[in-house]
Amino acid sequence: ENVIQPQPGIMDIQLYQGGASHAEGVSDVVKLSSNENPFGPSDAVKEAVRKSVHELHRYPSIDHLSLRRAIAQVHKLDADRIICGVGSDEIISFLCNAYAGPGDEVIHTEHGFAMYRISTLAAGATPVEVPERERTVDVDAILDACCFRTKLVFIANPANPTGTMIGGNEVARLADGLPPQTLLVLDGAYAEYVDGFDGGASLVDSRDNVIMTRTFSKLYGLGGLRIGWGYGPAPVIDVLNRVRGPFNLSQTQLVAAEAAIRDRGYAERCRAENARLRTWLAEALAGLGVPSDTSCANFVLARFSDQDEAEACEAYLRSRGLLVRKVAGYKLPNCLRITVGDESACRRVVHAVGEFREVR
Ligand code: PMP
Repeated sequence: ENVIQPQPGIMDIQLYQGGASHAEGVSDVVKLSSNENPFGPSDAVKEAVRKSVHELHRYPSIDHLSLRRAIAQVHKLDADRIICGVGSDEIISFLCNAYAGPGDEVIHTEHGFAMYRISTLAAGATPVEVPERERTVDVDAILDACCFRTKLVFIANPANPTGTMIGGNEVARLADGLPPQTLLVLDGAYAEYVDGFDGGASLVDSRDNVIMTRTFSKLYGLGGLRIGWGYGPAPVIDVLNRVRGPFNLSQTQLVAAEAAIRDRGYAERCRAENARLRTWLAEALAGLGVPSDTSCANFVLARFSDQDEAEACEAYLRSRGLLVRKVAGYKLPNCLRITVGDESACRRVVHAVGEFREVR
């Protein structure tokens, strides 16, 4: 018996299942399994990254001031209440480490993003899973699950992998119904895809129990560089900064993110193209007998009749070089999550799903 043991809860963590990135024996592969921007980062970002190599011997900014000011300017926020991290994953981790420990509960919903549970267990706290209704966050079910032990509630709006979202009034009702010791985390990883949506920033400004997280991994095409941020009440941001490592973001990450958020034209073009192709993809799949809920993000959750059919379709698509995501781990065994790629990728998916439906 090994006496060197991890903290309780650690061995309950299921390793994060990332999206497939290669298909055996197929060369022309399109990755539609991780909700990445098919167009990549803008030219301005690539130029900023190239320039940053001349500064690699310097430690990066400790306080991320320049990036925080750029984010604040674009989103009309208070730069002092922004914190930046290694993807929004790191902000989620800071929240769990700072606010939840042994004996505390952290709520996530039935189909909620996997990192909520992983970071909760890593912090020694207890994850509590709350049912959804029709693959959509159910505010009443969350409020019913809250108790004096509840420290954090995570919801994503829009949500991954369902693509659904709840309205501002519902989010406000959730924030206002929480126990006094509970912080609501609004995960806005896909907020940029919703025209005119502030990700919950106005709710953050009018409450002291709400924080919003955002990312550069999706619309800005920077999943590979790992940059995210949070916007919350000053006391919460102060707490998170205490658990943040001083040099958590490299200078390359910082300048890339700043160039990305300043390039509004590129972001808007990516958003519009995603919206156009998402509608086209969802309608074409529905025409083939594969329905989906209306997606507010950069992917479509395609519903098959059962797990067998979903898995067979995933394998068929993979054999054609099209990598999509199985989501059985998210309690959606009959579904496949398909990232909205560029036009050619969307056409290939529809063509291959059509072939699959014919042979089956
Ligand atoms: N939240 C949600 C809902 C996500 O889907 C993702 C990415 N899969 C993240 C957070 C984390 O994104 P990142 O760490 O790349 O910012």
